[in-house]
Amino acid sequence: MAPSETLRATLRAIDGRGYKAYRDLEGTWAIPGATLFVDHVQGDPFASPSRMRVRVEQSAAQWPASLLATRVRRIAFEDHVARRMNDAIDDVVSGRRGSGKSGAVLIDAGQQAIIERTAATACQAFVEVRLEVGLPAAGRRALGREAEELLCGDLAELADRALHAHPRAIEQATLAADTAENHAALQHQLDAHDLVAFVADDAILPRAGGNSQRVLERGAVPFSAPPSLRVSLEVPHAVEGAFQLSGTGIPRGITLIVGGGFHGKSTLLQALERTVHPHLPGDGRERVVMHPTAAKIRAEDGRSVTGCDIHAFIDGLPGGHSTRHFTTQDASGSTSQAAGIVEAIEAGSRVLLLDEDTSATNFLVRDARMQALVAQEHEPITPFLDRARALYDRLGVSTVLVVGGSGDGFDIADTVIEMRGFGAADVTQAAREVAAQHPTGRTRAPATPFEPPLGRVPIAASIDPRKGRREVHVEARGTDGVRFGTEDIDLRGVEPVIEASEARAIGYALVQCRDFMGQDVEVPAVLDALEAWLDEHGVGALGPRANLARPRRFEVAAALSRLRSLRVKKSTES
Ligand code: ADP
Ligand code: MG
Repeated sequence: MAPSETLRATLRAIDGRGYKAYRDLEGTWAIPGATLFVDHVQGDPFASPSRMRVRVEQSAAQWPASLLATRVRRIAFEDHVARRMNDAIDDVVSGRRGSGKSGAVLIDAGQQAIIERTAATACQAFVEVRLEVGLPAAGRRALGREAEELLCGDLAELADRALHAHPRAIEQATLAADTAENHAALQHQLDAHDLVAFVADDAILPRAGGNSQRVLERGAVPFSAPPSLRVSLEVPHAVEGAFQLSGTGIPRGITLIVGGGFHGKSTLLQALERTVHPHLPGDGRERVVMHPTAAKIRAEDGRSVTGCDIHAFIDGLPGGHSTRHFTTQDASGSTSQAAGIVEAIEAGSRVLLLDEDTSATNFLVRDARMQALVAQEHEPITPFLDRARALYDRLGVSTVLVVGGSGDGFDIADTVIEMRGFGAADVTQAAREVAAQHPTGRTRAPATPFEPPLGRVPIAASIDPRKGRREVHVEARGTDGVRFGTEDIDLRGVEPVIEASEARAIGYALVQCRDFMGQDVEVPAVLDALEAWLDEHGVGALGPRANLARPRRFEVAAALSRLRSLRVKKSTES
């Protein structure tokens, strides 16, 4: 490693030369109190900023070993370090120092969820952050002296503020790690209590706005358990002195969330959908816990579907299309939603979240009048409400469904929760009475058992990330999708995808998945191999130098299924 005097001398020598002279910076340098790794220098001031890492040895940083004691703690600690660095950048870095991206310092610090990300790394030996740094220029000439201030001054100060264990920082990092570990412990207890979700009393579910995941600060009604659904779960780290948390347990089976418009139904479902991941202390949802395999399923007309066995929901399509291996480049609302369910189950999901706001009406339910008008033989769809029971009884897949517009589900629901003025009430008994007093007059579809869907063997050659001369082209479109080779994978219907870095990681994960595909290797085995690989190598190994955040297997599987070029073989097992 070159000493910081050499870095200063190098930068002074670069001053005033063409921008390409910055290439001399690639390598490892000492800066005051830290080590600077310049991994990649941008080609010009307007290109994406240069990639650097700043590292402080633990011997100097002095973080307590307890922050690294478990995998969950380490991830929360790393996540916290990235956020500290982000705050420090806001305080320290004054902004533009010339043309283009001159003087910018960026870190991919994430939103409200705590997930594994490449922005920060912590281990026994050191703490390190990955930064994007705009090397200063005037026009296209290197401003070496400005760069000296930025690298030897600002970055050193950032390292001091964010990477060293100041007492307040230890406290906050420990709280983040404890919060994440409590979430994991609660999640772990769900199965033993026959629950799919837990919402601690006093949780704050609403968000600041449709465009923000931050907590609604003013006028939020805290969640409170209906007495009949109240459970008490244990946490390893006391919350306000207590190791027992009281809250709402949402049981396995079929749960309806009903209520008037604007009473908080979708807000509850969205909180459930996102809390498959732990959230920051103060988020309001840090003690809301969803089953780790939950997947939100919505209608996505226009998406592609490949070799998907949707016959349990849809059979006898006009034109004689088989629905045991259903393939289309342009699914309808109902076929897309059926495929979404089958694919989620294939990936291992045991809880489905559906909201009438984002569902195809004819997929959810068909009422008596429509049954009377359109003959059964002309209707290929068995509505979800007629299948949900069998789905649970045969495959153990639970459903949480938001419905305000139809009471046809009362007959099959195990639990009915009414949201009323943002408070939850257990109205299961009342719903049963209503169901008895007001028969729907519908003919229920025959209760045929739910056959497990046929397996799919994805073909690696159909997953092609090449573009032009590049072997791998992956580019996130925010959280809306990912450019994969020459194709756009639409992720707008895949929830939760919470960050662009996650969408990007999903793209790279598909590239990686090709290595795990082969003769007779079905989708679940590919996903198992991917998870084991990610556990071993970390999400950063997916794509060198890219900002990445680890996706769940469900979101990777969903992206694979939405790849229009995908081809699959029928499994010979089934
Ligand atoms: P629904 O799905 O029942 O029509 P939403 O969940 O969309 O209702 O909620 C309607 C509005 O109320 C949203 O603006 C949401 O942010 C707000 N809201 C939801 N829950 C609460 C709460 N507990 N306290 C305050 N406002 C809330
Ligand atoms: Mg709604």
